[in-house]
Amino acid sequence: MISEKIKLAGVVGAGGAGFPTHIKANSKVEFVLANGAECEPLIHKDYELMLHFSAEIIRGMKLLIESTSAKKGYFGIKEKNAAAIELIQNEIKDSSIEMTQLGDFYPAGDEYELVYAATKRLIPPAGLPLNVGCVVNNVESLYNISKANEGIPVTEKFVCIAGAVKHPSTFFAPIGTTFRELIKHAGGTTANDFAVYVGGVMMGKLTFDLDEVVTKTTAGLIILPKNHYLIKRKNQPEENFARIGKSACDQCSYCTEFCPRYLLGYDVQPHKVMRSLQFTKTGAEVWNQMAELCCACGLCTLYSCPEDLFPKEACDNSKKEMRLQGTKFTQTKPVKVHPMKDGRHVQLKQLMQKLQLKDYDVHTPFNPNKLETEQVKILLKQHVGEKAEPVVATGDRVKKDQLVARVPEGKLGANIHASITGMVTHVTDEYIKISC
Ligand code: SF4
Ligand code: SF4
Repeated sequence: MISEKIKLAGVVGAGGAGFPTHIKANSKVEFVLANGAECEPLIHKDYELMLHFSAEIIRGMKLLIESTSAKKGYFGIKEKNAAAIELIQNEIKDSSIEMTQLGDFYPAGDEYELVYAATKRLIPPAGLPLNVGCVVNNVESLYNISKANEGIPVTEKFVCIAGAVKHPSTFFAPIGTTFRELIKHAGGTTANDFAVYVGGVMMGKLTFDLDEVVTKTTAGLIILPKNHYLIKRKNQPEENFARIGKSACDQCSYCTEFCPRYLLGYDVQPHKVMRSLQFTKTGAEVWNQMAELCCACGLCTLYSCPEDLFPKEACDNSKKEMRLQGTKFTQTKPVKVHPMKDGRHVQLKQLMQKLQLKDYDVHTPFNPNKLETEQVKILLKQHVGEKAEPVVATGDRVKKDQLVARVPEGKLGANIHASITGMVTHVTDEYIKISC
């Protein structure tokens, strides 16, 4: 069964979330959606994958359609990616998969957006695509499904290295490779003092640690000089976000008016969440609720707010507080798409202008030379669910593709395999290190 092969191969959502794919392959749905609507500024790894591996992606999608008994597939892709559309269309060859062409706006690749664009169905508040008969998979997950079907586990990640590097590019790297080596494979940096966004500037995280490693969900790295606008905004103590917000938010509500989830009809209102910073603690528990359905896309903080405040971070905090208090917000009013939704799309070009990224907006061509490394540090938790349990010990010799950690019995998780051939040098609670 394909779902068993997917489980054995350790396939997880490669688009960022890392949900184990065998669970999706085991469900019964009406529609399978391929998510090729990459929208993080500067990251083009899905586009390159579609250009160079369209046959594998469609094979994976058809396997998933079969295993879920879906009646149809939709392939979500941006209209601007004409070359990839043509290749994908040539591979489809029948009527089982339809293209859903999307505008170049952010966040076109959000699951809720994509499900609505393809099927006109609205996922219930805080729900999953499954609740409306859909499963959504990133194109790289589909590629990995086709490999799993051949018995090849996930040991490499397709990554895009962009920003202040000599050769912005896209290539395969063994899971567990350090960021230092990835940057070297892209020719090194063009800035002496730099910082790294992992996974994108909108939803990714900022790091200065080049010893961090690639996981099954690392979409790419954006390298930016330390004095770049985005680094200066992000790299400050969290208390600042609240302090500045408290004194400067004028409740203009632009953050809400451009919020993609609000425009789809969900009760997310970041300007109200900001009130929890402005007043005494009284009322915060009410305003916190307006953050519950936020998808952390970052648009309010990085685009909509004219005062450069941090409503997304205020939402993050509100969600944390609600979790600590064990409270939950339930949307009672019906989900109804805002009449201005289409008119308020934030075009990627406008977003990049605002983020001062235009100078880095270049092609990141596929480099067929795979990165080779002599040491990897493979994390035991690269996915939603439980940590994988090591099945190797220090001193063991392992071959590439060999199982090194497995999903605990009866738990949600994903298997992990050796990404290089060599000797296991460390096994800890967090990772396994292998050296050639
Ligand atoms: S857009 Fe900025 S200033 Fe306006 S309500 Fe939102 S956080 Fe406050
Ligand atoms: S981060 Fe801001 S814009 Fe994005 S969903 Fe949350 S509240 Fe809305």
